[in-house]
Amino acid sequence: MNTEHTAIDRIREAHEVGCYGLVSGFAKQVKTGNDINAESALKRDGPFFCGACLSQAILRKCAERKDHFAHHTPLSPVVPREETQRHRACMEEICTELQKVHPDGLWEIDRPIPENKGKKLSAVRPDISGRIGGKNGQRLAIEIQASSMTIPKICKRSDVYHRRGIPILWVVPLLEPINSQAFRARLYERYFHSLYFGRVYYWWPGCGETVTPVHYGVARRYIDHREWYDTDAGEHREAGGHFMPYKIIKKPILGQPVKISKNFYEYKDRPEFRPRYERKSVPKCTIWMDKLPIWWDAEDEAKFEKYYPEEDDQDVSESESES
Ligand SMILES: [Zn+2]
Repeated sequence: MNTEHTAIDRIREAHEVGCYGLVSGFAKQVKTGNDINAESALKRDGPFFCGACLSQAILRKCAERKDHFAHHTPLSPVVPREETQRHRACMEEICTELQKVHPDGLWEIDRPIPENKGKKLSAVRPDISGRIGGKNGQRLAIEIQASSMTIPKICKRSDVYHRRGIPILWVVPLLEPINSQAFRARLYERYFHSLYFGRVYYWWPGCGETVTPVHYGVARRYIDHREWYDTDAGEHREAGGHFMPYKIIKKPILGQPVKISKNFYEYKDRPEFRPRYERKSVPKCTIWMDKLPIWWDAEDEAKFEKYYPEEDDQDVSESESES
């Protein structure tokens, strides 16, 4: 068993999940609220949860890897990897609809934009590209998210389109309409959420050129009231009996469905920024942004930020890499 490799794996997983709370090998026991180590924990000690983000944790004991806890949360209902046909169907449906609404817009799938050596612009091939309002209208590139699209690739593409002066719209394809069930967003969904100021654009079959903007709102966990005797301090203690926000589980708050060619505008020069909790910055870019006013309670949400200060992730991961 290669423990060093295991530690790197766990940090990578934590980064993808958005929480480093389980990297240390400890989780909390629901019954007692006490920390418990994966090495000594047994299945019957469960259920467990992550002390950092409050999500359910599962104990993993296997031969190849060190015993550990993993986050066990429902993922967003994104089309799985093997669904390339669905990806294609999404591109075709959106493109056909845009072609219908803007017949002079030269809407096309996979049309290459050649390299421009003079201006040092590399070649790109947007999933869908065309112009709104005819030949000299507003240019637009639409990218349908696929699981092969990593954060570095997303950043690189955003940069290329930006330098070409073309706004970009990232769409996340689903198989079915999204509901308001709480879930854990994937890393790229969290990036899009930051990129579009708290919105991710979802699409599902039958939507044509309409997407539904979704905001990731606060989901809460009830912390059971418990009492125990702290032997170290020699004191009786009490805790819990209140709601705490989850860090990585979010409640989707659906905005009004919007038409790509109608309810959006070109947002130029969105400044470079680093999303909260993430490590990689998104470069300066030009985005295709919906015109909806904020439909969630931003003021209420801001109150929850104090629960998860930014430094947390860094501390845990650094102490782990030393061991
Ligand atoms: Zn966690």
